[in-house]
Amino acid sequence: METYLIRESARAKHVRLHVSAEEGLVVTVPRGFDRSEIPTILAAKRSWIERSERRIEEERAAVGLNTEGALPERIDLRAIDEDWTVEYCPTSSPWVAAGPLLLPESRPGHLEVRGGVGDPRACGAALRRWVFRKGHAHLVPWLGGLSEETGLGFGRTVVRNPRTRWGSYSRKETVSLNQNLLFLPTHLVRYVLLHELCHSVHLEHSAQFWSLLRDKEPRADALRDELRLAWRYLPDWTTGRQDRAPAGEPAPLPWTG
Ligand SMILES: [Zn+2]
Repeated sequence: METYLIRESARAKHVRLHVSAEEGLVVTVPRGFDRSEIPTILAAKRSWIERSERRIEEERAAVGLNTEGALPERIDLRAIDEDWTVEYCPTSSPWVAAGPLLLPESRPGHLEVRGGVGDPRACGAALRRWVFRKGHAHLVPWLGGLSEETGLGFGRTVVRNPRTRWGSYSRKETVSLNQNLLFLPTHLVRYVLLHELCHSVHLEHSAQFWSLLRDKEPRADALRDELRLAWRYLPDWTTGRQDRAPAGEPAPLPWTG
């Protein structure tokens, strides 16, 4: 399940693909282009896209770009209905760690970021590690439960923080889930999990795939549309994604195929 931006250009003669740290995958299409052809084009270019995304991830990790964005005072994990307040506690430790304090007086829903909290990049990274742990604790059993409910199997699950995908299903039957699914409303996460499970039967986005998904989730088409805008639920600090659309142009919409 790929998320990408579509941009229409009067000057473009062909479809162009571009992957950048700021926007992820951008598909530029000539004016009037039939957008239903895009998933097929992306499927043909999959290995190039994956190579480019890996390169960008490495570059981003090297320059710390992913850690930009204001640090949160509250974290709303809509998917699991948990609302956390965040407190930044300076200590003499050079490291920064985030987690609920495991002390008798610790308050429920209270997250502490401790250590060298004057470094916003280190704080952002610590918070993302915490989201990763939460993602692992909640998304993995959630997928297992849906698998039992639907009878759709899979090999194993990995949780990651990729830029452009909510989830994917590999030929080795590994389901990869984006830890930031936790920020989405529950019904959208359920849709993504069902989508990936349906790939256990049909690896490609074929007509049979969509019909199986509609069989498991009758509102699949509406949810797929809704998911296209779901990046808006993500606070900047989770990905570093910023809206860099030039002034005067409408912001491109995230898209999921
Ligand atoms: Zn898919």
